[in-house]
Amino acid sequence: MIDKQHLIDRFFSYVTVDTESDPESDSTPSTEKQWNLANALVEELKQIGLEDVTIDENAYIMATLPSNVDHDVPVIGFVSHFDTSPDFTGANVKPQIVENYDGKDIVLNAEKDIVLSPDEFDDLLLYKGQTLITTDGTTLLGADDKAGVAEIVSAMEYLVNHPEIKHGKIRIGFTPDEEIGRGAHKFDVEKFGAEWAYTMDGSQIGELEYENFNAAGAVVTVKGKIVHPGTAKGKMINSMYIATDYINSLPRMETPEHTEGREGFFHLQSVNGEVDGTKLQYIIRDHDKDQFEARKNMMAKLADDINAQHGKELVSIEIKDQYFNMREKIEPVMHIVDLAEEAMKKANIKPIIKPIRGGTDGSQLSFMGLPCPNIFAGGHNFHGRYEYVPVENMQKAIEVIVNIAQLAAEKNE
Ligand SMILES: [Zn+2]
Repeated sequence: MIDKQHLIDRFFSYVTVDTESDPESDSTPSTEKQWNLANALVEELKQIGLEDVTIDENAYIMATLPSNVDHDVPVIGFVSHFDTSPDFTGANVKPQIVENYDGKDIVLNAEKDIVLSPDEFDDLLLYKGQTLITTDGTTLLGADDKAGVAEIVSAMEYLVNHPEIKHGKIRIGFTPDEEIGRGAHKFDVEKFGAEWAYTMDGSQIGELEYENFNAAGAVVTVKGKIVHPGTAKGKMINSMYIATDYINSLPRMETPEHTEGREGFFHLQSVNGEVDGTKLQYIIRDHDKDQFEARKNMMAKLADDINAQHGKELVSIEIKDQYFNMREKIEPVMHIVDLAEEAMKKANIKPIIKPIRGGTDGSQLSFMGLPCPNIFAGGHNFHGRYEYVPVENMQKAIEVIVNIAQLAAEKNE
């Protein structure tokens, strides 16, 4: 299979380039520095022998591995993102290697007393005996999603160097700004030209996902009336009390801290209030489309009910859809999930198929006409100092990509 040191070198060359994205910026990519890695990737893709290597004015990269068979095989794509999360710094990443992990605490930074411990992160115990790549405790690692990028590049390189493995045309795509929810925004699905694709952007080995939340954001605005407290009787309206009534009228147990699996929720993100006016920010999440609609209706009706009770328009609500569950776009083409599952089994990986309690670029791409389930990239503890990735997970992900390419060619013989 793929050479371990070569893979580590490649991964290090990506994570040591700072590509943190910025939600406050309106440009694409959101930060200038993302170009540094994007331009280097373009050179690398050309160097390993891919064709049609392009980068557009927004730093979206695409490339082609041409088919090496005579018969028709559907064009399959692989997609990942090269930005890192603004939740934690991605500057001056100094990756560390733990060889033959012994299952004990890993001191990330002795000076600052930062320890990665299986007491806290029991996933670590899955990787005894393996080679882990960690941070030095002061930055994130960026395995999300530079592990995905390294896996796709390595798989393409492997296929170029092993022409005896038969495959159809493969398209690859790397995007900026996924971490600020814009990775798919300017993705040119038509130019990409794949029949379907996979994002390599999951976590634990075996993850295969084609369901995510339906998502909306809601802003509830409550109007009050400020009057001198000494002469307020019958006149003052304290918006904070009305906002509290609103908050308490939503089901208290349907919140992130009380739900899991396919259970949806209302999440109160912030309360900003004074007597004269209060603003509540919510997000609404549900895998089920009908229940998602019911949640939005419940929030709107609650505003109406409170207004009726007071005989005044005090509460108004603005609800905006954010993204939708890709399941409805994937179910009609379930063979693409089956193919990934088969590719994992062929690599001796047990597939873990579960709904994502979040969104992915793949869900947006699916609604843009490119059905796009998500496959593990192998890292853990994303967006923080405890992020790590076992090299063996990355090797397995590469094997899955190669297997998908090969199986698709076999099935269409
Ligand atoms: Zn990611």
